[in-house]
Amino acid sequence: MSSLTLPSGSKMPIVGFGLWKVNKDTCAETVYNAIKAGYRLFDGAADYGNEQEAGQGVKRAIDEGLVKREDLFITSKIWNSFHGKDVVRKTTELQLKWWGLDYFDLFLIHFPVSLKYVDPAERFPPGWHAADGKTVELADDPLQETWVELEKVVDDGLAKNIGISNCSGSLLLDLYKYARIKPANLQVEIHPYMTQEPLLNLAKALNLTVTAYSSFGPLGWYELDMGKGAQNLLQHDIVTKIATSSNKTPAQVLLRWATQQGMLVVPKSNSKERLIENLKVLEGSDLTSEDMKALSGLNINLRLNNPAEIDPRMSIF
Ligand code: NAD
Repeated sequence: MSSLTLPSGSKMPIVGFGLWKVNKDTCAETVYNAIKAGYRLFDGAADYGNEQEAGQGVKRAIDEGLVKREDLFITSKIWNSFHGKDVVRKTTELQLKWWGLDYFDLFLIHFPVSLKYVDPAERFPPGWHAADGKTVELADDPLQETWVELEKVVDDGLAKNIGISNCSGSLLLDLYKYARIKPANLQVEIHPYMTQEPLLNLAKALNLTVTAYSSFGPLGWYELDMGKGAQNLLQHDIVTKIATSSNKTPAQVLLRWATQQGMLVVPKSNSKERLIENLKVLEGSDLTSEDMKALSGLNINLRLNNPAEIDPRMSIF
């Protein structure tokens, strides 16, 4: 499996498996099958609510001798409700317990947004809204305090690398001013409808690896009714034409567009065939520079995952 080397020396596989919206009841089996198919990176999060089941899939694969722990690269993310300096450590330990692991290979701040603490015993995953389903309850934890706690998590061996997701360039520059341990990875939404070149250039200048999520654009968002009316990228003329001429599937064209720019990808699929199709993205010839340009030319700055777009019916406190 091709990988990128992080400043800590960890090798991060370029193609991983995304665990968002993988149902609890199939998650253990899905993770086990993905390992069998050759996946070594799993992209999880407290917010996905399936870490225990994902850990069961990992355990089965290790118990059966398919892989050793050190062959795997497990990413998880700390949710917005757990940014407080007194809860970062205990939340990390809880998430590790769910996975059945001693350490994460990468632990990300899911969003640079701090929400009011919710006791996991009361409601989990807490999500964006309070129990009333409509109030967003902000908390007072500055990002710097959360980052300092994550650095201690690394010092104590609970995470090999730390990073941040859904972070803008300016906030990233601020983080670099105080970070004793620099972020090893930035995970952001990138696809041909939102190409984010300036952020990619900044990451390059900072020697920061970038994981592109939602590689298939609106496809993963349709089921939440959050596709913003955008056309399915997999059926877009430009994508299907390039797929035919490059002897790839439309999904592979979209993933290759990202990996060819140096990004890592974490597509999600419940189907065994697609899982393998996505993993094979690094095989075969490169896309031509004309194809790359045509795909990037689809950019319409369509941000599907934007928590700053608050539904006017919601209140923020
Ligand atoms: P995605 O872009 O991977 O698309 C998933 C959809 O594509 C599913 O409907 C799946 O059935 C379909 N699909 C997968 N492979 C296919 C193929 N080969 N051919 C046709 N259809 C295929 O979706 P996503 O869930 O938005 O993103 C993937 C991962 O990125 C998530 O699981 C998660 O790990 C990560 N992510 C992170 C954040 C964040 O805030 N950090 C947000 C969204 C997603």
